[in-house]
Amino acid sequence: MKQQQIPYAPGTFAACADCRREPLHWEVTGRTSREPVVFGPVPVRHLLECRSPCRRKTKLHPSLAGAISEWGQLGETLPLPLPAITNVRPIRARAKGRAHG
Ligand SMILES: [Zn+2]
Repeated sequence: MKQQQIPYAPGTFAACADCRREPLHWEVTGRTSREPVVFGPVPVRHLLECRSPCRRKTKLHPSLAGAISEWGQLGETLPLPLPAITNVRPIRARAKGRAHG
């Protein structure tokens, strides 16, 4: 398995939710050591990985779109962070029926 970094224009991918940097786009050829041997042409797969020391990354995807989708689900950065809601209390439903003594 070998991987090659594909250059891209800044702003192509969502910034990492942890370190706010854009991930690197890797094109991976061949199988990983954990996959079974496959005969025939080896497809190219795509992976987005954050730079060191963050190292957040997606799984291997057959298409770049898949990797982008997973990267977004890992935590897309929003321009305005939503305020954290801390004082939410569950509504206590009173038990129905009254049991008097
Ligand atoms: Zn990161």
